[in-house]
Amino acid sequence: MPSFSEFSLDDDVLAAVQAAGYEVPTQIQVQTIPSALEGRDVLGIAQTGTGKTAAFSLPMISLLKRGRARARLPRSLVITPTRELAAQIAENFVMYSAGSNLQMALLIGGVSFAEQLALIDRGVDVLIATPGRLLDHFGRGKLLLSGVQILVVDEADRMLDMGFIPDIERIFKLTPFTRQTLFFSATMAKEIERIADEFLSNPVRVEVTQRATVSSDINQAVFMFRPSSKSQDFKERRAVLRKILKEKDNEVTNGIIFCNRKVSVDILTKSMKIHGFECDAIHGDLEQSNRMKVLEAFRDGSIQFLVASDVASRGLDIPNVSHVFNFDVPIEPENYVHRIGRTGRAGRRGAALTICGPTEKARLTAIEELTEFDLPKTEIDVPPGHFSSQRQRKSRVKDKRELREESGTKAAVPTVGTQLEDIAAEKQSTEENLPPVVGMGEHVPDFLNRSFSKEASASE
Ligand code: AMP
Repeated sequence: MPSFSEFSLDDDVLAAVQAAGYEVPTQIQVQTIPSALEGRDVLGIAQTGTGKTAAFSLPMISLLKRGRARARLPRSLVITPTRELAAQIAENFVMYSAGSNLQMALLIGGVSFAEQLALIDRGVDVLIATPGRLLDHFGRGKLLLSGVQILVVDEADRMLDMGFIPDIERIFKLTPFTRQTLFFSATMAKEIERIADEFLSNPVRVEVTQRATVSSDINQAVFMFRPSSKSQDFKERRAVLRKILKEKDNEVTNGIIFCNRKVSVDILTKSMKIHGFECDAIHGDLEQSNRMKVLEAFRDGSIQFLVASDVASRGLDIPNVSHVFNFDVPIEPENYVHRIGRTGRAGRRGAALTICGPTEKARLTAIEELTEFDLPKTEIDVPPGHFSSQRQRKSRVKDKRELREESGTKAAVPTVGTQLEDIAAEKQSTEENLPPVVGMGEHVPDFLNRSFSKEASASE
């Protein structure tokens, strides 16, 4: 395995890599960095967690250091499907470009556009944006894309899922034909292959993971549970989760608990809080400022658990997640792979524990077929106090009341119908159709208002 110093990276970039504590480059970095530094187009097939952000950022910063930004003409552009990913990439750029006098701006919902546009007006080296926001500002004549020398498209497969491909095609056409393109996707669907064929010029193809492979650093296990009745499933499942959390107390540093439905996320979060767990919810219906706040609390360890919908299963870079829990078996087998990819990242060990009821066995089989792995299964009993059918009947009214109180809604008892509706809604939930959010309050990252370099920001 080569070392970072063998690449022709800029000295400041090498220093930043060292300061980040990276000892050796990851596989995608080994394959991408030399070609990107030579100005070649790169088609990278890699999932989040492989180190792909550094794979494109490090050569970009090295190349961009050799030029100057011009007013309203960003020199490079990073397109990414969600605000969270854009913010993560921006944080990485700040880290890797310490000491480089590069200017960056972010065009995503939830940040002050006035300030970002003022930056663009003066000239930025790196513009990080979601497709809709970028085209919106382009359409209003606020920026020109004819100065883009390097274009990065990140998580192209997710753009496809979210319906952004026409936007991406437009963006490609608005940037100069001579640009360098670094294009990343976790999978190569036909449509993605077509875009890559059309817009990349003789790319170096690098592939670090096969589709739907699960890291061997993740210990996987399934807890098979049998609710006393269908109506008790949700309540008893919560009790089973608490039992698992109690049993694993010594091993679990922190964890993400995934649910198929937003309503389950909300109810489970409230229920866990009542039972004394430090946790919070994240799903697509929450305001951006709220999502950022929750993520920050999880990152800095002030909450131990993140209860999440599939919106959070892809792309979120939260280092050191010791456990992923599947409160229910994901409906799409690919989502299982994305969910559990939040743990066991960058060479660390992780665990993925799934609760499976009798009606979810077919989904489990689909996951096993997709990942070509027989998941180890153990039976788990519903803890005492949640099982007696007599008590169950008597307490049904109380349970419904409890559910309503926990959820704050009147129609919170889940049904298959609402489950499917909810999943369909979740799928459609793109960053563009979320409720408009103004500002990020105290969580506006300070890099948004200043240059990468300390000297430049001091002089502003
Ligand atoms: P990414 O795939 O870009 O989301 O990166 C996943 C995680 O790996 C991030 O937390 C990075 O900080 C980390 N990382 C990237 N490159 C390296 C490296 N060469 N050595 C150790 N960690 C790395």
